[in-house]
Amino acid sequence: MNPPLLELADAVVMLGGRRILDGLTLTIRGGEHTAILGPNGAGKSTLIKLLTLELYPLGHASGAPPIRVFGQNRWDVFALRSKLGLVSSDLHDRFVRGNANGVLTGLDAVVSGFFATHGTFEHQRVTDTMRRAAIEALERIDAGRLAAATLDTMSTGEARRVLIARALVHQPEALVLDEPTRGLDLVSRHAFMERVRVLAQSGTTILLVTHHVDEIIPEIDRVILLRDGRVDADGAKADVLTAPRLGHAFEASLQVAPAGGYYHVRLA
Ligand code: ADP
Ligand code: MG
Repeated sequence: MNPPLLELADAVVMLGGRRILDGLTLTIRGGEHTAILGPNGAGKSTLIKLLTLELYPLGHASGAPPIRVFGQNRWDVFALRSKLGLVSSDLHDRFVRGNANGVLTGLDAVVSGFFATHGTFEHQRVTDTMRRAAIEALERIDAGRLAAATLDTMSTGEARRVLIARALVHQPEALVLDEPTRGLDLVSRHAFMERVRVLAQSGTTILLVTHHVDEIIPEIDRVILLRDGRVDADGAKADVLTAPRLGHAFEASLQVAPAGGYYHVRLA
């Protein structure tokens, strides 16, 4: 069996003197499409930063590692990032802000996935193999025509598609999506989620971070509910997406209606 994608053992993250993650213990296996759900500030993005090694949890006195990624507790960041693809609205903002002058094409943005940078630079050796892989990644999500366009001329939805291609350029084992639909209109959001469904069906493990219950695609079976840096509920979607459980995590009285593999939530 493949090693788990992520194992946390009583992981604590302190930032600015506060416990942002307060002893998380969980295991996410390869192939186990999972949603991390919770209100704003619950610690979802912090959890993702553990996975991408942007943050490290406090060590345990026993010496036991608080985190393993793909079964290992030591990683070369570059080697790890080639196994993970990341799309987040933060990443989107960084790309768009860093490209106000419009020099970056869709192809450049995708190629930059090989360097884990937000654009390509003179000193980076971009090979033909990388360019070919970038074009294939764009074509895989029907965005081949965005290769030559510059980011500043793209709609938010188009730029977000370029970022998916960037995340896929390494053919990662897992695709990590942190609030990936922020800023997308209704139609672009639907198109985005349909693309994610296809990727999930083709064997890329999906880890979706969201505070929108209705974005949890049918392929996702497991939901981890976070609240105040702790796991509030963790299990099969049907067991976690209930009015009492969601109501507890979001501190509101909610109604839940399953429909067509999705769950819709509104205030009761
Ligand atoms: P979520 O993604 O669930 O909305 P985050 O993981 O981004 O939540 O943040 C969880 C909490 O940690 C928030 O209260 C946030 O203000 C706080 N936080 C995040 N980053 C920092 C930081 N660098 N310094 C201090 N507090 C932080
Ligand atoms: Mg977040």
